[in-house]
Amino acid sequence: MSQRYFIFFRALAVALVVAMVPLFAANSILNQYALSIAEDEMSSMAERYLERAESSISTAVSALQRLDRDDIQTCSLPDRKLFQRVILGAGEIDAIGLVDRMGKRMCNVPDIEMNGEAILPNLRPDGPLVGIGMLNREFMGARAAVVSWDLRDGTRLFAEITPAVIAGDPGPAYLRGFRRAELRLGKDILWYEIGGYSSDGDGDSGLRVVLTSTQYPLEVSVFAPKSAAYQMVGDLKIVAAVACAGLVLLLVAIGVWFSWRPENEAHEDFIAAIRRGEFIPYYQPVVDIETGQLKGCEVLMRWRRPNGVIVSPGQFMEYAERNGYIFDMTRHLMRQTCIEVGKLYEENPDYKISINLFAGHFKDREVVQDLKSTYADSSISYQQIVVEVTERYPLEDIDLARKIMAEIQALGIRVALDDVGTGHGGMAYLQKLGVDIIKIDKMFIDSIGDDDSSTTIVDSMVELADNLGMGIIAEGIEKQEQVDRLIELGVTAAQGYFFAEPMPAAQFIEYAEELLAKEAEANDVIIDDDDDEDAA
Ligand code: C2E
Ligand code: CA
Ligand code: CA
Repeated sequence: MSQRYFIFFRALAVALVVAMVPLFAANSILNQYALSIAEDEMSSMAERYLERAESSISTAVSALQRLDRDDIQTCSLPDRKLFQRVILGAGEIDAIGLVDRMGKRMCNVPDIEMNGEAILPNLRPDGPLVGIGMLNREFMGARAAVVSWDLRDGTRLFAEITPAVIAGDPGPAYLRGFRRAELRLGKDILWYEIGGYSSDGDGDSGLRVVLTSTQYPLEVSVFAPKSAAYQMVGDLKIVAAVACAGLVLLLVAIGVWFSWRPENEAHEDFIAAIRRGEFIPYYQPVVDIETGQLKGCEVLMRWRRPNGVIVSPGQFMEYAERNGYIFDMTRHLMRQTCIEVGKLYEENPDYKISINLFAGHFKDREVVQDLKSTYADSSISYQQIVVEVTERYPLEDIDLARKIMAEIQALGIRVALDDVGTGHGGMAYLQKLGVDIIKIDKMFIDSIGDDDSSTTIVDSMVELADNLGMGIIAEGIEKQEQVDRLIELGVTAAQGYFFAEPMPAAQFIEYAEELLAKEAEANDVIIDDDDDEDAA
């Protein structure tokens, strides 16, 4: 379970890291997008200001130009009436009149009180025909511009442009509370300003758009803080965050699925392998070291993969036992022995065949049933069978194990304790279980010859087995001197690479037949000898 949590949290961590990347990317893309949209909006705001300023100036200029051309250029009543008509015809123009050389009003339509104040700069002889000035009259942040037209006689016609022309364009809603716009005549004469945001306060982080007119000395600047633009994509950022959270979940799911899948796949592979009969018996001969005759074999499981590779039990046995697959595998193995070596065993009733069981087999009686159903009507008789149980791992319920063993023994099958000396069973264990045979582990056989104390251990095992009336099989014989020593100790049954490695059935049968042939030959020689004696 904790393994699963680990997998889950690992997948989560990876997913978080992986999802951070698109989250940051989405955020910066959205910010970038917001800035470019805001800049576009600000540009078009600036364009609108400029356009209105330009068109109102142009309207005023052409109105004044027309008046001049039509000789309507005095303060006379008829001229003033015509001024009035022009004002009514052009929405941008509030007032029309004349100023003198000093820029002071000479007359004004509609009539206002003349206070002697100059509304335009002094006339310059080399100046342009058109002049633009600014009045202090103000409307919603915009001042009234004055456009003048030089009549070349020391007087000028003028027209006042209504501030409402410029005022009242708030721009897009999301920028409204933050932006600042300025329209200037020349560099410093302010025509219109709106909004309080100051780009200086925000340093470089603000947005700024500046446009200048190609027709008149006009400049528009629009400022806004970037944060105002970012607000616009606030909702999209939430969407992006939710999408990334979804991505995290998806990645976790995929990660967990991928992490767990191998385990599930391993299980499925294994079950399929069992079903296909890939677990097969190998047979390792057990020989009589005094006579060299075959005493039988131990059945050792192998996994023959479809590609022909032979896998040893060390690679899969623990897994098979832990997951309970071993029960089916053992049943299959036992059935195979009948098919493969049944005939050999029928012909050689003295041969024994050892089957390995594990501790789990001694937890219920099913194993007794398995043995019965496999061997009751087979060519291998109960008397030929030995079941091995290892001392390496303890039996959980010794009393139950003992009862099951007794039932097995009642059939005529013998029970061997495997790997004796490696576990914690000890003497008491041995006696309590009442096994028929002990198998001395390779570990002790290995050190015969170079370690006196282990010879002593083997000595005492042999003595113990003799005293309890148990048989002995020595395992893992690899050298002649081990054989010699075992003979000295009176051990006769042995298995090991010195004689033969575990092998497939056909090879084992061949091996058995070779030994039988040798034996027959030896007997022949003896018979021949007898004949010779007779003849003599
Ligand atoms: P084990 O029952 O002690 O089997 C003896 C092991 O020693 C076998 O290894 C055998 O090939 C190996 N061996 C025999 N002679 C020599 C030798 O001279 N030198 C060396 N170095 N090794 C030798 P294997 O076949 O790899 O099996 C390993 C273990 O797997 C077995 O130990 C047994 O505990 C288990 N096992 C094998 N088949 C089965 C089975 O069908 N059921 C169960 N429950 N366990 C099995
Ligand atoms: Ca064994
Ligand atoms: Ca063993």
